[in-house]
Amino acid sequence: MAGEKADGIVIRQADFSESSRVVTFFTREYGRVSVLAKGAKRLKGPFDAALDLLSTCGIVFLKKSSGALGILTQAHLLTRFTPIAGELNSLYGGYYVADLLYQLTEDFDADERLFELAQQTLAELATPEADPLTAIVQFEVGILVCAGLFPDLSSCAVCGNAVETEAKFAHWVSQGGLLCGSCRREEYSGRSVTGGVIAVLRKLSNPGSGLAARVRLTKDQTRECHQLAVSAITHVLGRQPGTLRYLNF
Ligand SMILES: [Zn+2]
Repeated sequence: MAGEKADGIVIRQADFSESSRVVTFFTREYGRVSVLAKGAKRLKGPFDAALDLLSTCGIVFLKKSSGALGILTQAHLLTRFTPIAGELNSLYGGYYVADLLYQLTEDFDADERLFELAQQTLAELATPEADPLTAIVQFEVGILVCAGLFPDLSSCAVCGNAVETEAKFAHWVSQGGLLCGSCRREEYSGRSVTGGVIAVLRKLSNPGSGLAARVRLTKDQTRECHQLAVSAITHVLGRQPGTLRYLNF
């Protein structure tokens, strides 16, 4: 029986039975895919060690109709995620990437750009010279952009007038989006962001700039961009992602 071939990152594992697991991949070809991995819990199972969390595998699976779980028939390891020893933001950053991929994508909704971004982020998190927090912020902004959830940072969410980054600051509403000075009201919950941070966020969110383009961020900029991205993610999910509390910004 021929199956569907894909490259995918293991983003979630759940026990299914004594010997089997449900494994969720974020694949290049199909987006998020959950499959039953029979025998995956056995010591000498059919998939060896390919199915560790955040490993990237070449897989073959049988697709079932009408929402039933597919069956994993082959998995071989392509790359393993190896967090930097002693750097918890590297390890937990990886878990956070998996969490966001699981929660902010849909089954069989392929997005090659997001797959490449995830691969690149995991590689950066495993690179001692790279700053894990910058990699995480790039991923947060990138996944929001890919999901069409990143707010428009060029114009006011109410009146549509351009928001200039030369302005000292703008007001960021919790739903995501900027308000110009004249539309700002006391009753809108949110926070002020500096023009400098808006400029950084525009750079991070611009697909034309190339995802591998490194943006140098100060510690304060990193923290502020992270807080704004988290407010947008939290708004979409209705709660904070569970793995967020392990990150130390
Ligand atoms: Zn306005």
